[in-house]
Amino acid sequence: MEKMLPYGHQTIDEADIAAVNEVLRSDWLTTGPAVERFEQAVGAYTGAAEAVAVSNGTAALHTALFALGVQPGDDVIVPTMTFAATANAARYLGANVVFVDVDPGTLLINPRAAEAAISPRTKVIIGVDYAGQPCDWVPLRHIAHKHNLALVADASHALGAENAGQRVGTLADITTLSFHPVKHIATGEGGMTLTNDPALARRMRMFRSHGIDSSARLREEAGQWFYAMEFLGYNYRLSDIQCALGYSQLQKLPQWLERRQNIAARYSAAFQNSSAQPLALREQVRHAWHLYVVRCKNRDAAFAQLRQAGIGVNVHYVPVHLHPYYQQNCGTKPGLCPVAEAAYAEILTLPLWPGMSDADVNRIITAVQHFC
Ligand SMILES: *Cc1c(COP(=O)(O)O)cnc(C)c1O
Repeated sequence: MEKMLPYGHQTIDEADIAAVNEVLRSDWLTTGPAVERFEQAVGAYTGAAEAVAVSNGTAALHTALFALGVQPGDDVIVPTMTFAATANAARYLGANVVFVDVDPGTLLINPRAAEAAISPRTKVIIGVDYAGQPCDWVPLRHIAHKHNLALVADASHALGAENAGQRVGTLADITTLSFHPVKHIATGEGGMTLTNDPALARRMRMFRSHGIDSSARLREEAGQWFYAMEFLGYNYRLSDIQCALGYSQLQKLPQWLERRQNIAARYSAAFQNSSAQPLALREQVRHAWHLYVVRCKNRDAAFAQLRQAGIGVNVHYVPVHLHPYYQQNCGTKPGLCPVAEAAYAEILTLPLWPGMSDADVNRIITAVQHFC
């Protein structure tokens, strides 16, 4: 049998390997110059003033919500069509997750549903740029401002995307990224938070390192050995080895985005008027195409047959409110988010990554048209 074509895969070249080797031969394996260089490069690329590298995308969400002051008893609004980590980050801080439904065409958070879910306990709205398409950030910002709430963008899918001419990374108070190998750039495990607010950035830098402030100012005032642990942080640091890989990967991001867009355009052209229905595209966005999702009435059968044919289709996502943990601990149940639940029965993620060949793409198109 042919090797299974995965839905996502990293692309590693000799330059990446050389970059990692260079760090291995240097004096710094962690918390050295490669971290800052990677942070500055992602900050420059996205237009965010501050970038804080952390150990993974989940840690980035936890760090963002901590910095915004999320506490036990607060509500955090989360679209249910996402990876569980988006909601879990609020649970780590003892907050309640208020799940909201998504738009039936794009599967992005519905701003009206988000506004309707606001209570006196609400502290943060998280938007997820599902599949790589930015949410409707303009009304979301308006709603957050009107109700004095913070806005977090889980942009794990959307590095390089734009909304109304503005890059992902500057659309919310804090934006989070993941560098898991299926995402746009890989560091093995890795993540980052982006913000324009220096006070939030300072709290996030401390949170990723035990809540310790070891700034030069403190050392100057109290002696070379001194540092102060101000709150209970974690060890969420990203190593120099990983940051060197991330920096090297970032150099290739523009060409990879172009390849992802090219593959997505072929899929979209092929599936026009077919029974495999692509998701809707918003206007005035540059889509980063982390995932290519179609809706297919006979999804379960198509999934099995495509897997049989060596095509590693997947399903993103089980709506988070349906997971046993949330049903058992947070009282969620089927029926809470009917749009996402109906979509969940039909969605299928097709393979999409820059290293795929045109022949791979054609084979997938033929198979999807046959089995959907
Ligand atoms: C990948 C992902 C995360 C978590 O990232 P990790 O780096 O795997 O911890 C969070 N949210 C979304 C939407 C993701 O796709």
